Amino acid sequence: KPKSAKAKASQSSVVMGVPISHPDKPLWTEGFTKLDLARYFESVADWMMPHIAGRPSSIIRAPDGIDGVHFFQRHAMMGQSSLLSTVAVFGDKKPYLQIDRPEALAALAQTAALEIHPWNSRPGKPAEPGRFVFDLDPAPDLSFDDVIAAALELKARLEGIGLIPFAKTTGGKGMHVVVPFDGEGLDWPTAKTMAREICAAMAADSPKKYLIKMAKKDRTGRIFLDYLRNDRMATAVAPLSPRARPGATVSMPLDWQKVRKGLDPARFTIATVPALLAKSKPWEGYAKAAKPLVKLLNRRR
Ligand code: ATP
Ligand code: MN
Ligand code: MN
Repeated sequence: KPKSAKAKASQSSVVMGVPISHPDKPLWTEGFTKLDLARYFESVADWMMPHIAGRPSSIIRAPDGIDGVHFFQRHAMMGQSSLLSTVAVFGDKKPYLQIDRPEALAALAQTAALEIHPWNSRPGKPAEPGRFVFDLDPAPDLSFDDVIAAALELKARLEGIGLIPFAKTTGGKGMHVVVPFDGEGLDWPTAKTMAREICAAMAADSPKKYLIKMAKKDRTGRIFLDYLRNDRMATAVAPLSPRARPGATVSMPLDWQKVRKGLDPARFTIATVPALLAKSKPWEGYAKAAKPLVKLLNRRR
């Protein structure tokens, strides 16, 4: 005998122990709902957690969906779920939001948090650098193949100085190249200078293709090598975070053999990514790739 509609709905809209209210509320234009978001987070949580836990995270909430008002939030919210962590940072009176357990992702979905943007700090050490994110921002007239070519060139340069880079789409127009490292004994000014130097060298060698100045007016036909994510309190969208953009696209971590001409970042969505992730197991060497950056810097000097 079929269950009553009410019983069925209440049973099916609990995700990781968190009851999702208004589960059928559409958040994306394509009809993906709040419950779809919560279930997406559940399916990718184990992969995602090591990349967000222990670092403050900003979130983007869109309670009325991506066409409605967006709330960009860095601080803990009044009355927030006890599944979310809060951290006091740099003497700021207002505590910051932190995501330390998988269930917190369901609690975030319940508040219609579509995007997660962690700091690039060492876990548990908000003042210290923990990874580089090189943010490749193409001018609107460029193709995604141009972005791929830039990512591959940057990869070669990073490997050339002994770093181990990883790639992800952003769910938007560009790509991020992520370099994990052990930042013990380092500060952000030092790490940021290194990131800037790497991008400056790449732009100097191909000034027609790349630039490191933010000014949009100079960007036509070129890719902005945005090294500014590499700073205290700077964020980048987390790998596997959905975007509050058309298509419910996701910032998809990819192994380098997938980063080739013809790649279409729009195919990575909250509907397609769980199966792709289970099949491809990207970034397997990530944890081991984090070597002490201070040693490498000392060798370079
Ligand atoms: P795209 O590929 O479309 O550029 P993106 O996520 O890289 O997507 P960017 O605008 O290049 O978008 O921003 C890079 C990162 O910097 C973001 O993921 C976000 O975490 C952070 N960021 C960008 N703009 C802001 C902002 N105004 N306030 C806070 N953080 C920001
Ligand atoms: Mn970008
Ligand atoms: Mn950028």
